[in-house]
Amino acid sequence: MNVGISTVCVGDDILRAIEVAKKFNCKFVQWTIKNFPSRNLIRKVKKEKKVKFILHPIFDLDKPLKILNLMQEINSKLLIVHLRKKDLKDIKRMQRFFESKGITLAVENSHLKDKYFSIKDFKNLTKEMPNVKIVLDINHARECNVRICKFYEKFKKYIVAFHVSDTIVGKGYHLPIGYGKTNFKKLRNIFEESKDKIFILEIRSIYEDKIGDSLDRIKKWLAL
Ligand SMILES: [Zn+2]
Repeated sequence: MNVGISTVCVGDDILRAIEVAKKFNCKFVQWTIKNFPSRNLIRKVKKEKKVKFILHPIFDLDKPLKILNLMQEINSKLLIVHLRKKDLKDIKRMQRFFESKGITLAVENSHLKDKYFSIKDFKNLTKEMPNVKIVLDINHARECNVRICKFYEKFKKYIVAFHVSDTIVGKGYHLPIGYGKTNFKKLRNIFEESKDKIFILEIRSIYEDKIGDSLDRIKKWLAL
């Protein structure tokens, strides 16, 4: 099933994320990296054959070759990035570069000021880069007051994955599903229509004991 967890759910520990993903029958592990991992760690990760990896670097993408090498070593085909408007030119080149290597590049909607993209910005992005893909982070959308249904309708053909967590705007972010105020009922149609896309749980690690509950909810939406 097209469900995964992010390493952020388990305190950035990739090996633990692999174990937890297998325990809950997740097909994907999103490796959120703040720095390039050590050789030793990569060696351990690449031994894993049961889960598929998604790479999510949260640093500047000035070393595409190094990213490509890492992705090829762990056989990852999806690269999720945050983007600043000033990076638009670079990302265009990078998208073509990764695409030529069989890797899909997807831009996530960020909630951070310098990386925030409005619907209009995403419109420009998709116009400039028709092959770009999008990851819709439901928590970030809510934090920035982006209307999720509207965003989805406009960009569904570009969306390859969702980052899923609950939110209480201004008070709690990346919460386990059911612990915030996100109206997931309203999003049921979107999820049903998106069964071929990837759903990645992205809750903070202090809620690690709620991973199973949260995944159960997601699977229920998708009737898996
Ligand atoms: Zn996210």
